[in-house]
Amino acid sequence: MAKKCPDYIQDLNDYLDGGMNPELCAEIESHIGECENCRIMIDSLRQTVTLCRDGSEEPLPEALDKRLSGLLRDRWKKKFGKQRGQDC
Ligand SMILES: [Zn+2]
Repeated sequence: MAKKCPDYIQDLNDYLDGGMNPELCAEIESHIGECENCRIMIDSLRQTVTLCRDGSEEPLPEALDKRLSGLLRDRWKKKFGKQRGQDC
């Protein structure tokens, strides 16, 4: 069964952290290649992560990481929930 867009949000987080297996990494890359919503998402996620890190090499604290996912999920629902439905 194909993943739905919001299922990728947590994966995108890991993807940006660089700590994911190559298989999943390739899956995400092919998905964001064909899904504009997720491309927009990963751009804003990347910006947020950059801002949070503020040039530091430290990984995101886990609590912040979780908060970020929740935030993105909410934002996602508001932005794309109605117009695109469950699938993308
Ligand atoms: Zn998508």
